[in-house]
Amino acid sequence: MEAPLQQLHHPLLQEQNIQLWLKREDLLHPTISGNKWRKLKYNLQEAKQQQKSTLLTFGGAYSNHIAAVAAAGEEFGFRTIGIIRGEEHLPLNPTLHLATTQGMELQYVSREVYRQKSESEFLKALAWQYQEPYILPEGGTNNLAVKGCTEIIADIEIEYDYLCCASGTGGTLAGVIAGLEGEKQVLGFPSLKGGAFLQQEIEQLIRNYNGKTYNNWQLFTDYHFGGYAKVKPELLAFMQAFWEQHQVPLEPVYTGKMMFGIFNLLQKGFFASSSRIVAVHTGGLQGNAGFRERLGLQV
Ligand SMILES: *Cc1c(COP(=O)(O)O)cnc(C)c1O
Repeated sequence: MEAPLQQLHHPLLQEQNIQLWLKREDLLHPTISGNKWRKLKYNLQEAKQQQKSTLLTFGGAYSNHIAAVAAAGEEFGFRTIGIIRGEEHLPLNPTLHLATTQGMELQYVSREVYRQKSESEFLKALAWQYQEPYILPEGGTNNLAVKGCTEIIADIEIEYDYLCCASGTGGTLAGVIAGLEGEKQVLGFPSLKGGAFLQQEIEQLIRNYNGKTYNNWQLFTDYHFGGYAKVKPELLAFMQAFWEQHQVPLEPVYTGKMMFGIFNLLQKGFFASSSRIVAVHTGGLQGNAGFRERLGLQV
């Protein structure tokens, strides 16, 4: 399994003599996509070690994490349970359809109930209901996920100055920062509003992982396009143009926003001239089937 580096070419890059490389984590695994594979890897080992036969996790109806856990369950022989936020809608959207064809059992809970997803009483009740499953938090972010994400940077075999990564719960970014141990500049692009909160979350995740704090990273909080899973026409137009220029598919929740942000920063002259940027393509392309359905997305 490999995530190759791919260089992108664009007049803006040429003008400033900047190199931009994509780390194609989306190509890591056919169904357990990108950073979700990194986040699951050590958790799957741990679940086996604990002799668990069931994985249980949480997500929205279009969640890449839900899709990845369903696929991992099928591939590695776990029963999988998805606790899904909101009501059931039939026919199932492409994400949940795929999850169920991979054997995932879905339990829908109201938004109020879903909010208890980290509370011990609720988790105890679920553990009892499903015979003591291995429980993965929403988005898959825990200490073992951070450990797995430190490996994203392990096989980047070029010199570079900046590492860019999209961020939801912050687990992936925490892993990348911890993996770099203070080297390079790390730029995070949150797909949700509320960057200040995420800053603290990431600091905490890193502290839990290795007890350290780092100063070589920052979040760019202006590229959320209205919030999680929200899009604007200019984002879709950017993704379309990006596809035509590079033949690399992005998705609108994470990687589209990050890439938009990187090109916007390039336009503003943020990056030092002659520098090298590596941007992580964290995958998530399974979600595009749903976006094609809802938004007429072309990518
Ligand atoms: C889940 C996901 C992210 C966010 O990862 P976090 O660890 O939650 O920050 C980024 N990109 C893609 C494609 C994802 O599916």
